[in-house]
Parts: sequence; C-alpha cells; structure tokens
Amino acid sequence: MRLVLLGPPGAGKGTQATAIAEAFTIPAISTGDLFRKNVGEQTELGKLAKQYMDKGDLVPDEVTLGMVWDRLSGADAREGFLLDGFPRTVPQAEQLESGLNERGGLGLNAALNLDVPNDEVIRRLSGRRTCSKCGHIWHVEFDPPRAAGVCDVCGGELVQRDDDKPDTVLRRLEVYRQSTQPLIGFYGKRGFLIEIDATGPPREVRERAIEALRAGV
Ligand code: AMP
Repeated sequence: MRLVLLGPPGAGKGTQATAIAEAFTIPAISTGDLFRKNVGEQTELGKLAKQYMDKGDLVPDEVTLGMVWDRLSGADAREGFLLDGFPRTVPQAEQLESGLNERGGLGLNAALNLDVPNDEVIRRLSGRRTCSKCGHIWHVEFDPPRAAGVCDVCGGELVQRDDDKPDTVLRRLEVYRQSTQPLIGFYGKRGFLIEIDATGPPREVRERAIEALRAGV
C-alpha cells in the first residue's frame, strides 16, 4: 500500500497518518516531523529548513526531495508507506511519480484528501499544543490534558509550535491554497483521489478514512 495524505494544515494529517499506517502496517513518513527532528538536532538541513518553516513557507524542493528519497530507501518503506505532508506542490508530485517509476515502477495506490473547512482549520491550529518531550498533540479546547500545559502521557511541558502562531498560520494557509490544493486536481485526473470529510472526533475520521481506503484501493 503506497499512499499520500493530503489536506490543509490542521486537517489532522499527523493523527490520521499514525492510525492509518498502523491499520495497513506501513510506516507513516511525515516531512514536517523529519524537518522538526533535524531542527531539534541542529543539523545543516535543520538550520536551513528552519528559516522557511518559521515563516510558514515551504522548504525548497531539492532539500525536501533529497530527504524524502533518503527516507523512502529505508528497508521498512519497501513494502509500502504513507506520506504525510508530501507532496506539497505539483512539481513535488511529479518528482515522486517519476522517482517511484525509476525505482521499480510501483506507483501510488491512493491519495487520501482530508476535507476540513477553513474556519475549523484556524480553530484547530491556534489551540494545538505539542508535548516538548514525547511529541503528543493536545488541543486546549477539543482534547485538553488533565492539567493545563502538562502532557498526560509523559508529564512533559506543552508548547505551541512556532508555526502554529497566528501570523504563520495565515501564511501556511495561503501557501496551502496556492501550492498544495492543486494536487487534488492532479491526483483526481490520475483516478486515485479519495476524499473524506475530516470534521468530527478523530476516531470517527479514522474509521471513515480506513473504510474509504479499503473500498477504494
Ligand atoms: P507540517 O508539519 O506538515 O505542517 O510541516 C511543517 C513545515 O515543514 C511546513 O510549513 C514547511 O515549512 C515544511 N514542510 C513540510 N513538508 C514539506 C514539503 N513537502 N515541502 C516543503 N516544505 C515542507
């Protein structure tokens, strides 16, 4: 199973990616998480990516693609994978398509689009808090931890991602509309776009996603 997960920032891609990957026993590969890991470890790639991420802009394609191919060459991704946050532009999608072709001809099975209205996306992103220790994601309104600011899972401190701050959120949404939304048409034309309503509790979205993938792939 080779999948890509599409949707605006705040659509719940991270949460659903983990659940879907588990259901189909494939690795969930998130370019945002890979970049954040590099930022945390202060690698050269991380230092470069941070300049773009802090503004809500996309990291240049050559950097992103190098990182993606490196990750996809891992043994665990040979049988399948779920890409979360990649591709983000039509050129990235074209490169993914031709690269998969060159690497044995196993193309994608589906592109799953998580559909969420704009105002809901802003509410979700502005209330999102991430555990600085284990990475678990909470929400001040929809999924609050027992004690404000403290992770229930590991006791770590909850922080707001720099790019979840209001100005950056607006920029990320603009970048999404301009660069990423056209992918819905791109994959629609290829006949493997699957769209689901991603509003409501994460558990229900997960069931919708898995059902749609089982029926559509
Ligand atoms: P995410 O966690 O998916 O929202 O990604 C956080 C940030 O990482 C984005 O706002 C971009 O700056 C960067 N990023 C993640 N994936 C990509 C990608 N496929 N292409 C370019 N930049 C990306």
